[in-house]
Amino acid sequence: MIRPILIHPDPRLKRICTPVDDLSDGLRALADDMLQTMYDAPGIGLAAPQVGVMDRLIVMDCVKEEGEAPRPLVMFNPEILAASDETNVYEEGCLSIPEQYAEVTRPSAVDVRWIDRDGNERQETFDGLWATCVQHEIDHLNGKLFIDYLGPMKRQMITRRMQKLKREQAKARA
Ligand SMILES: [Zn+2]
Repeated sequence: MIRPILIHPDPRLKRICTPVDDLSDGLRALADDMLQTMYDAPGIGLAAPQVGVMDRLIVMDCVKEEGEAPRPLVMFNPEILAASDETNVYEEGCLSIPEQYAEVTRPSAVDVRWIDRDGNERQETFDGLWATCVQHEIDHLNGKLFIDYLGPMKRQMITRRMQKLKREQAKARA
């Protein structure tokens, strides 16, 4: 089931999410919905608060090459164990901030530990786009958006655009 994605500004995108301690069927169904919603958007990552659920859950798939097999990842309670000193700059976007992009500097590689869809603990080092994406999604679980890395002028400009977009969407629905 495709779920509606919250658009910034929304108080639910500013909150710290709660760790998951019991992998219920409901949580697995939520993860499946999030993957479907992410692929449909289309996007490469989605965090539970973006669909209004305050649990520490993210999904992602950064495979972009045509013909390459998809690699959907479901991560409960993802945690960054270590980050490289070396950094990387990517032009980031966000499904909650549609059509706005800005360069963000982050560590170029991160070690991440998480619980997968089957309840198994996993650990992996991510680099390239995967490293940027996993850090961006984990930020969501801590109420942080990529625009929080920008200067106040740029951030306010993007926020005003999103407020306008939300007004237009509300009007279209009315
Ligand atoms: Zn995002």
